[in-house]
Amino acid sequence: MEVVKVEKTASRGIAVAPVYLYREPDLAPDSYAVAKEQAEEEQKKFVDARSAVVEELEKLAGENEIFAAHLEMANDFMLQDGVNNRIAIEQKNVQIAVKETVEEFAGIFAAMEDAYMRERGADIRDIGKRLLAGLKGKKLPDLGSLDAPVIVAARDLYPSDTVKLNPEFVKGIVTEEGGVTSHVSIIAKSMNIPILVGVSGISEKLTDGETVCMDAGQGLLVLAPDETALSEYQQKKEAYENERRRLMELRNTPAVTKEGKRISLCANVGNVEDIKNALEMNIDGVGLFRSELLYMENSHFPTEEEQFAVYKEAAELCPKELTIRTLDIGGDKELPYFAFEKEDNPFLGWRAIRISLDMKEMFKEQLRAILRASSYGHVRIMFPMMISLEELRDAKEIVEECKKELTAGGKSFDENIELGMMMETPASVILADAFAKEADFFSIGTNDLTQYLLAVDRGNKKIADRYSYFHPAVLSAIGHIIEAGHRAGIKVGMCGEMAGDSKAVLKLLEFGLDEFSMSAGNIDYVREQILNY
Ligand code: PEP
Ligand code: MG
Repeated sequence: MEVVKVEKTASRGIAVAPVYLYREPDLAPDSYAVAKEQAEEEQKKFVDARSAVVEELEKLAGENEIFAAHLEMANDFMLQDGVNNRIAIEQKNVQIAVKETVEEFAGIFAAMEDAYMRERGADIRDIGKRLLAGLKGKKLPDLGSLDAPVIVAARDLYPSDTVKLNPEFVKGIVTEEGGVTSHVSIIAKSMNIPILVGVSGISEKLTDGETVCMDAGQGLLVLAPDETALSEYQQKKEAYENERRRLMELRNTPAVTKEGKRISLCANVGNVEDIKNALEMNIDGVGLFRSELLYMENSHFPTEEEQFAVYKEAAELCPKELTIRTLDIGGDKELPYFAFEKEDNPFLGWRAIRISLDMKEMFKEQLRAILRASSYGHVRIMFPMMISLEELRDAKEIVEECKKELTAGGKSFDENIELGMMMETPASVILADAFAKEADFFSIGTNDLTQYLLAVDRGNKKIADRYSYFHPAVLSAIGHIIEAGHRAGIKVGMCGEMAGDSKAVLKLLEFGLDEFSMSAGNIDYVREQILNY
């Protein structure tokens, strides 16, 4: 038996289950030579691998439309010609031929002006991965296909992996990379899945199928547990569930402090399912709807109609405040259908509002969809990553354009929809007074604010001990933002992970924070602290 202790944790929950090791196989092409007379045989290998991939994609396309575009691409003749010519003319082996052809095509797509064509680059790389896996006789892991309870252990998971997780079977997650505010952590928490991140070397220590115990709140992972540990964790699980039941009884009490200040207690969500789950906690609304998940789960940029259907359902489900943040992609969040140019510093690069302002037509599709949904509930719009008043003014002007278009088309919306912003960049802190005069509300994004103020990457485990929203510089920035907001008479909320951290709640109440928005799993704990303040 071995107990691994993780210093930094940000979720709760106890899990006892077998390990599912999520390992991407080595898909580097083998280097064997192919003589001229073997070319036909080598081409036949490609035909077989491609048929298997097409069959697999046909199945997947029936379940998720993301794969329809992949299927089209796998059937493309240019791809087939590229591989066959490399084998026949250049005498390359089929694995190298596939790798080179895919890279060539992905490069061509990535350089294209048209966004739709650029999207094809990511599709073709995915197909390349599938073809190489088939040719090398390797199996690709698929988290969406799990059908029994497991604890997933991985070097790292990307947000596109986590959107496929089913909490019915994924009882816990352990990763080697990532920090407590990395996006994989946040998505797992919103699904109420206990998660431990930054656990160095863990996938080497674990074997597929062995049972482990985890306590996410305490940061403990027990490998090869003996009978005593197993029964101790079963008891811990029961105690944890009893505590949850006790807190659940407070759910009908509104979040009012002893001094009588009504605090808005809201949830961070990524989709309609999360809202349904959070409504059980008797929330005052949604303080952060991360709209990018809708983009990440799709096979193309979702259209106005597609987005409207989702936002309308969300607004109807949650007639209280529903704060929809406009697309916050880039950084560590990618789209399966859009080839982002490689950047040296993606978190300082083309992300969030920068992309929306540069791709105005795409931005307008989203804004019109949100505006139309505002007829069905109390919807608010929130812009991410703002650094200048010009950006805020440009974004607001585009909202005005969208309103005019909707009016001309006879579509209804809330004329007085509130337009607020995330406070998550150092520039927004310094300019907080000026921003407060032009924004309808603020929401402090401590996840990014901490990384940008301290110059500490939020997902880098090597420096995770330096990443802290209790750093005096971050606390001072938070106090300043709240004061600036209140001076201008606007409400200030927080939707970064700090808002759901039991250790931070009292400090934030002292600062005068008006709204706490967090992963659903933390709401009951924060409510109790507000009631006792
Ligand atoms: C934040 O930065 O605090 C935030 C809430 O946004 P995200 O975690 O999605 O970047
Ligand atoms: Mg952020």
